[in-house]
Formats: sequence, C-alpha cells, structure tokens
Amino acid sequence: LSKDYTLLRDDQDADDIEIGQQRNGASAWRLVLFLGTLALVVGSLATVAVPKLAGELIDVCINYAKEESSGDVAKRVLNQKLFQIIGILAVGGVATGIRSWLFNASAEKVMWRLRNNLFSHIILQEVGFFDRVRTGELMNRLSEDTRLMKSAGTISISIALRSSVVASFGLVLMFMTSPLLSALTLACLPFLLVSFRIFSKLNMKYTAEMLTASAQAATVAEECFGSIRTVRSFAKETASTERYGGAQGQVLQWGLKSARASGFFFGFNSIIGTGSIVTVLWFGARQVVDGKLSAGQLSSFVIYALYVGTNVGALAGVISNLIQAVGASRRVFELLDRHARQKPSGNEKPMGSPEGGEIVFDNAWFAYPSRPDVQVLKGLSLRVQRGQKFALVGASGGGKSTIVNLIQRFYDPQRGAIMLDGVHLPEIQHEWLHSQVSIVSQEPILFAESILYNITFGVEEAAKLANAFEFIQAFPQGFHTKVGERGIRLSGGQKQRVAIARAILTKPRILLLDEATSALDAESEALVQEALERVEAGRTVVVIAHRLSTVKTASTVAVIESGVIVERGTHSELLAKGGAYAVLVRRQLSSANHESSSS
Ligand code: ADP
Repeated sequence: LSKDYTLLRDDQDADDIEIGQQRNGASAWRLVLFLGTLALVVGSLATVAVPKLAGELIDVCINYAKEESSGDVAKRVLNQKLFQIIGILAVGGVATGIRSWLFNASAEKVMWRLRNNLFSHIILQEVGFFDRVRTGELMNRLSEDTRLMKSAGTISISIALRSSVVASFGLVLMFMTSPLLSALTLACLPFLLVSFRIFSKLNMKYTAEMLTASAQAATVAEECFGSIRTVRSFAKETASTERYGGAQGQVLQWGLKSARASGFFFGFNSIIGTGSIVTVLWFGARQVVDGKLSAGQLSSFVIYALYVGTNVGALAGVISNLIQAVGASRRVFELLDRHARQKPSGNEKPMGSPEGGEIVFDNAWFAYPSRPDVQVLKGLSLRVQRGQKFALVGASGGGKSTIVNLIQRFYDPQRGAIMLDGVHLPEIQHEWLHSQVSIVSQEPILFAESILYNITFGVEEAAKLANAFEFIQAFPQGFHTKVGERGIRLSGGQKQRVAIARAILTKPRILLLDEATSALDAESEALVQEALERVEAGRTVVVIAHRLSTVKTASTVAVIESGVIVERGTHSELLAKGGAYAVLVRRQLSSANHESSSS
C-alpha cells in the first residue's frame, strides 16, 4: 500500500496521459493527502473531547442536586459547557467532511493512474505471456484487485487511521480518568489479541482462495461469452452455466468459511467486550459510592471505554480489508514489475525502397515459450525473394502459422535468425516492421468500433482496392458502422475485405495471408479473390494456402512437415515429382488443411 501511494508522487510516465491541468500534480496531491490526514486528526480529537465535557456537565447537575452550588451558577456553567460542546462538534463535522472528500479524491486519482499504468504495462508484455496467462486473470488484476486497493485506500485506511487516533486518545483519557478502572478494562485484551490473530490468519487464507476461484470463474465467463456462437451451435448453454456455477461454487465455499470465521470472531469479541463493560460499571459504581470517583467521571470513563472498544473493533474489521488489499496490491505490483521477456526492438528501418521485401529464415529453431519441450521449427531455412509469392502448404500442425507468427516477431526463435532485407527482426523498429508487414488472417479479428476505426486513415482508397468500398457505402452509417465484437455483424467475406483494406493501408512491402478455409459464398469468394490479387501485385506475399488456385499462382510452394521444409518448388514441378505435395493435392489441399483453421 505504501507503494500504492508512491503512485501519487511518481508523475513522470503518466504525464502523457494527463489531461493538462495536473502538470505539477505530484506536490499538489501530496498536499491533499497531508490536509486529509490533518482533517482526520482534528475530527478524531473533536470526537474524544466530547465525553470529558459531557462528564463535567453531569457533575454540574449532580452538584446542583446535592445543593453544593446555586441554580444561577449551575446554569451559567451548563451553558458554557454546552457552547464548548457545540463548537467542538461543529469543527469535528467540518473536519470529517473534508477528510472524507480528500481521501476519496486521492483514491480515485490513484486508481485512475494505477489502471492506466497497469493496462499500458500489460499490453507491452510479449505474446508468449498472453499464451500463458489467462485473460480472465488479467481482467481480475485490472478491475477486481485495483478495486480492492481503492477501497482500502479510501474507506479502510481512513477508518484505520481514525480508529487508531480515537482509540489511543480514548485510552490516554481513560487512564487519566481512572487508572484502576483502565487496568480492569484492559484485562480482556489478551483474549482479544489471540482471537484476532487466529481470525486474520484464517481470513488471509480464505481471501486468497476466494480470489483465485473468482479469477477462474471470470475466465469461464469470458470464454463462454466470447465464443457464444460455438456455445450456441453445440447447445452448450446448460453445460457452460454449470461450468461457471462450478467455479462460482468454489468462491461461495471459501466465502462461507470466511463468513463463519468472522461470525465466531465478532461474536466472541462482543461477548468479551460487553463482559468487560459490565465489570467496569459494577466496580466503578462502587467507587462512586465510596466517593473515590465522581458520577461524571464514571460516565466519561464508560464512554471512553466504549469508544476504545468500538474503534478497536472497527480496526479489526478494517484490517481484514487491508489484508485483502495488501494481497491485491502484491499481485498488481508483481505484474507492474514484470519485464517483457523479449528483447526490445531496435531502430532500423530497412525496407523503405520499392525493391524491399525479402524474407530469410536462417536455420531457425523455435519452441513456443508456453510449451518449451515441443520443438516446432527444427532448423528451418527459407528465402522469400522480394515480390515473390511464397505458398506454405502441409498438414495441420506442421508449423505454417508459426512461420507467419515469427515473421511478425510475435516470438523470437531460440536459435538461428530471421531477417527482412538483411536486417535481423529484433533490430527493426517496432512500428516500422508492422507498417511493412501486414497480415490478413483467415478469421480476421476486428475491434468493436466503427469500420473507420478498423481501417483508419487513407481509408477510401484502401477500401476500394479491397473491394470493400461498395458494401461499406451501402450501410446507413457508412464507414462509421459499428461492426460488433470481433466483427460479428459483418459476413465472412465482408470481414475479409475490411481486413484486406486494413492490411494494405500502410502500403506494406510484405503481405502475410492466412487463407480462409471456411467456404465463402461464390460471389464473396470472387470479390475477396479479386481484392487479394490486386493487393498482392508488386508485394512479397507469404500465404498459408488451402486452395489449389492459390498454389498454382505461387512462385514457390514449400511443404512444411513437423517444422521443416520437406519439398520446395513450383506447383507443376512438385506435382511432377509425385512426392508429399502430390499426395496433398490428391487429397485436395483444402481438406488436408482443414483443421488448421483452428490453430
Ligand atoms: P500449422 O499452421 O501448420 O497448422 P502451427 O504453426 O499452428 O501449425 O502449429 C505448429 C505446432 O505448434 C503445433 O504442434 C501447435 O500445437 C503448436 N502451437 C501453435 N501455437 C502455439 C502456441 N501459442 N503455444 C504453444 N504451442 C503452439
């Protein structure tokens, strides 16, 4: 949590997302926290000041009743005390308001920055990280854990501070009023401490289990909603609900355990607390009768004891929230401290000229970081000359998509090198690489924004080249039409053409195509095909081919099996050879590759 607040100070990297007025935010927010704490102390002091005055008020009444003072004097003193009480309460009220406002504002600010920092940090992690960590888990870090931290930062911290201040002052005033009674009251302390220790240990365990289970539930929900069509087409609604219910059941189980523990804890504490108040009342009353204590003093003492009791109780309740928040912040900062395990990109921009666009794999060895024991590429070497159309074919799982992934530097090979125009991929500037290498995948993923957003600038020309212009114009909102999550509101062919337009927008030298295996209707198919032919012209093209028509137009066809090239040549050469390729063709490329649509 202390780290949490350092976010208030560390302004540098969030400055570019700041909205201007908070340029010198660091010192301003430090001042805010200081004022908030000051208001908290003033408010708490006001609270502890009142019982003493109330006790004095009672003693004035009792003295008058015992005829030790005259009515006029008593009334004058009463008024005096009453004004003092009103004054103190007013100051306390204002201070409490200021404290609540400032603390909440700080927490909002911390959360705003923390979430932005966290998101921008997560999105920079290497692709292998996302293979391993489930999205539900990351979503939980981003929303649930930061929410826990925020509630700790506002409610819990301010309750904890206020309760400690009130309890400590209350304790001092208790001792000042009656040391004997105070000692008696504190006799119950060891019991409370032991029960608190047990409770917080249990609570910490239950909370951790609950959060793990709830991350699992979130992942299930995300998976099911994200692939609703698959769920529907297999009629797996009930099964999905049961799967989610199972995960939630775990959350409930640990939640119930936690509820039972807090029942025991608070019940036990309440019994001990009440018992000690009753003892003090009995003993204190005897002292008043013996004349060792005034009735007013006993009243003040009892109120202080109650103060101390309730505030220590509140502290205990809040500490369990703080424990949760410490766990949450540990997870959040673990993530914030994680460095992407991929060498950062260099600054080279090798493929500027129209002649650029050569791809070379030089003895590349690669295994996915999430499955290091499975060697996917085993010393693959290949050269795709500029302007060439290079078709990758082969049975599913051979490594075709892996090659395409590596050209985009989603991963780096463990051994060997991949070069574009003679420059090693890691040396090439990140944005430049992706402006020069574009992909149209078989199931293009669009963002749930407008078509305009999905293609961005230079749109119309790209859309025309991609045969997408007409259908886009036909929508009432044209380029601003929202396409739905993952482009659900567009047909397969339309998605393809939007993706093609998006891919050629930066005028890349290299086009990576993952050919659709699912059948488009004849007209869509023709439009997509025509668009592709148009955009392929003059570019280096690497295509994961599933159609005979594609391989026939490729200048080189490479058959990939278990991460190595087993045959290479033109379509007719390979056919004549009568090897693996001929077998593939006989089985019809598309059906042989059919499963690869899922990888
Ligand atoms: P193809 O495109 O030829 O069907 P892939 O390149 O998709 O083949 O897959 C090659 C191998 O790599 C397969 O064994 C597949 O299971 C594995 N693989 C693919 N993607 C990943 C990934 N993200 N993490 C781990 N293994 C993967």
